[in-house]
Amino acid sequence: MEKREMLYEGKAKRVYATEDPELLIVSYKDDATAFNGLKKGTIAGKGVINNEMSNRLMQRLEKAGVPTHFVEELSERETLVKRVQIVPLEVIIRNIAAGSFSKRYGVEEGVVFSQPTIEFSYKNDELGDPLLNTSHALALGLATQEEIDTIRRLAFQTNDLLRAFWSSCGVTLVDFKLEFGRLSDGTVILADEISPDTCRLWDAATGEKLDKDRFRRDLGGVEDAYAEVMRRLMEHEDC
Ligand code: UDP
Repeated sequence: MEKREMLYEGKAKRVYATEDPELLIVSYKDDATAFNGLKKGTIAGKGVINNEMSNRLMQRLEKAGVPTHFVEELSERETLVKRVQIVPLEVIIRNIAAGSFSKRYGVEEGVVFSQPTIEFSYKNDELGDPLLNTSHALALGLATQEEIDTIRRLAFQTNDLLRAFWSSCGVTLVDFKLEFGRLSDGTVILADEISPDTCRLWDAATGEKLDKDRFRRDLGGVEDAYAEVMRRLMEHEDC
């Protein structure tokens, strides 16, 4: 599939058109940002890891009944995906308190929830991705009630599948962000990426952070952490 004009350049990825109007090519960069773009840097090799990790996880999800945008891995950094119109909601599932949840509600990081939580924010950089409820999302016309119901169901199903998978790799899935999109016929599918950029992943034995928090919080060993979770995933896939 031939890469045509660049349609969009985001913080961590570039998106290209192809000769097929229903398909796009995503190219993963090593660029990293945090705090709504205030902190910028590079994580060497991240693009390669995120591309492969996201593709492997999406293929697992697809097999288990979660529809995704994944079509085919084209190279180390590039993947062919289904073209969608992104629903402008960041969908966050949490199993353990961390990050903005801990700050907002005064809960110590590491407190395990009796059941997973879901929250939505409005995907809008200018506004700083404000938290919103489903009633707000309906009022703003961001999605229909039916779409929100589907997104909620798919997000919790994704959590069950990913949590079990990461657990078998000795990794605790603390929280993560998903984005969904609409195909041209309106079907809602999982899009964007699933990687250490978008998930909090802790070593199950030591609690060591193996994700983008090492970059956000200047903990050092960022590249090693990404490589380590990738190694764990590959080890598991070999069995
Ligand atoms: N997240 C993300 N993109 C965002 C905001 C959050 O991928 O723009 C992910 C983040 O990596 C974490 C989860 O969503 O796994 C929850 O993030 P949180 O709301 O705690 O925000 P943060 O503390 O990262 O600002």
